[in-house]
Amino acid sequence: MSTIEMTGEAIIQMRGDAKSLSQAGLSHADESGFFAQNPMTGERLEPRFCSASKADVEMAAKLACAAAPAMAAASGRTRADLLFLMTEKLMAAQEQIVQRAHLETGLPLARLNGEMGRTVGQLRLFAELVAEGSWVDARIDTALPERTPAPRPSLRSMLRPLGPVVVFGASNFPLAFSVAGGDTAAALAAGCPVIVKAHPAHPGTSELVARAICDAATELGWHPGTFALLFDSGVAVGTALVQHPGIKAVAFTGSAAGGKALMKLAAARPEPIPCFAEMGSSNPVFVMPGAMQARATAIASGLATSFTMGSGQFCTKPGVVFVPKETPQSFWQELKKIVGGMTSLGMLTEGIAERFREGVGERRRTVGAIEKIVEASAETQRATAAGLPIVMKSSIKEFLSMPELEEEIFGPAMLVIEYDDAKQLVAAARQLRGHLTATIHAEEAENTAPLLALLETRAGRLVWNGYPTGVEVSPAMVHGGPFPATTDSRFTSVGTASIFRFARPVCFQDVPDVLLLEELQATNPLGIERLVNGRRTREIL
Ligand code: NAP
Repeated sequence: MSTIEMTGEAIIQMRGDAKSLSQAGLSHADESGFFAQNPMTGERLEPRFCSASKADVEMAAKLACAAAPAMAAASGRTRADLLFLMTEKLMAAQEQIVQRAHLETGLPLARLNGEMGRTVGQLRLFAELVAEGSWVDARIDTALPERTPAPRPSLRSMLRPLGPVVVFGASNFPLAFSVAGGDTAAALAAGCPVIVKAHPAHPGTSELVARAICDAATELGWHPGTFALLFDSGVAVGTALVQHPGIKAVAFTGSAAGGKALMKLAAARPEPIPCFAEMGSSNPVFVMPGAMQARATAIASGLATSFTMGSGQFCTKPGVVFVPKETPQSFWQELKKIVGGMTSLGMLTEGIAERFREGVGERRRTVGAIEKIVEASAETQRATAAGLPIVMKSSIKEFLSMPELEEEIFGPAMLVIEYDDAKQLVAAARQLRGHLTATIHAEEAENTAPLLALLETRAGRLVWNGYPTGVEVSPAMVHGGPFPATTDSRFTSVGTASIFRFARPVCFQDVPDVLLLEELQATNPLGIERLVNGRRTREIL
């Protein structure tokens, strides 16, 4: 197993080598820095990480712009080679990366090893997608020179990369949604250079992963601007990156405040750019009377597992659950048994744990009718950053009069709302804003069609008799949803379809075959599926 040296400095590839600035003979204009902190012990972790300077931002953006044309020209198979080699480099450094991630996040080693599996799995998935090539949605309308009253020109279109993308790593997925995570994989696969703003909660993990990516890019002779990593413990570097004229898109996973701030910055530029922010949601669950009568205990146990999984720090955590007034006691008893038997759960950072406690406190203070059904025991709190799992309860009347009750509390909290009839349930669904998921528990005979039709307009993924946590990385996955869950409901940030965020269609009119990319050439040398005169085919023209 190789060991990667951690320097704590921005990684900008110079002369084809992954170097920190001091290694490259340049000094930092800005000497400010920060340390990672172990959320389990509060201990400060070495080394010191340097916040990127203005010069770092400028250099990273300049290099990314210089790399963009070569990346756009690279074939899908060439990009796939990079993604495949990245997986090898990451796996070779897995032990070191996972150990550091464990120290920085407190997440269990088993979870982190699983997350590494997911990370390399999604890199492979994107590699296979672009190696095959049909994702570019090639469309060909052949010329009709004899058409009257006007001839039709030859029109050939396909998706092309947007250009340099800034990725903000998420705190709750230090591997699968961070430096080499889904956003980076999708952007590189699309042919876009990537600059990652590392999440300050796991800078060491970020550096180790970035070095593995740079090793792969260097070994294959990719342009040094293909990838860069910058550190900061505040918003200055992220702001400068989003405002840089060379940047063409932003991908973000995190808080509503952060996502909205970046969306505003991206829109206010002289040249506005898309900002794909996934900002989480409370993922409402609707339990129909028949389902509750048939399996109250199983539903309670499924919900308890789902809302406490990962200490409730998943954007798909079920935060609001609607149950019928005549819910059997066994449902409440099961919830009390499971949650009451828990102890405090470790959280990612002290800040996140504090916001969780504040969120729970505020909800219980501001809403008179909310009662605490059960809270875990505080006695065995081991981590400095920790939260007590809690289930709260309120009425549908309260929910309908206080829309803020649907707002996410990030962490192990769940609000159960009792409803009297189906009309109230539909009214609650109608009141909802955008969510990543919505779930229905129902028996076959129950009429859920109106609810389902309504929820389709409120969420990106509809779950039937299941639980929203656990997001499959696959072609059909939609991890998105209307605002405020995301800033652009047309796209997903998980699964192969997330590549479409970083590409735009370009149409070539009457351009000679020889000048076209292989995807659009008459002989279809890549053998991809294309839409030729309105018909899907792999045939040649
Ligand atoms: P965050 O505060 O939104 O930060 C995420 C990243 O964005 C960090 O790198 C942060 O940089 C940067 N950032 C935030 N606001 C910015 C701004 N105005 N301009 C430029 N950069 C900005 O998220 P977090 O630290 O991971 O967790 C805080 C809260 O976010 C949680 O309590 C939770 O509510 C929510 N969260 C949601 C999800 C989700 O799945 N959607 C995931 C994790 C967290 P700095 O930290 O350096 O300022």
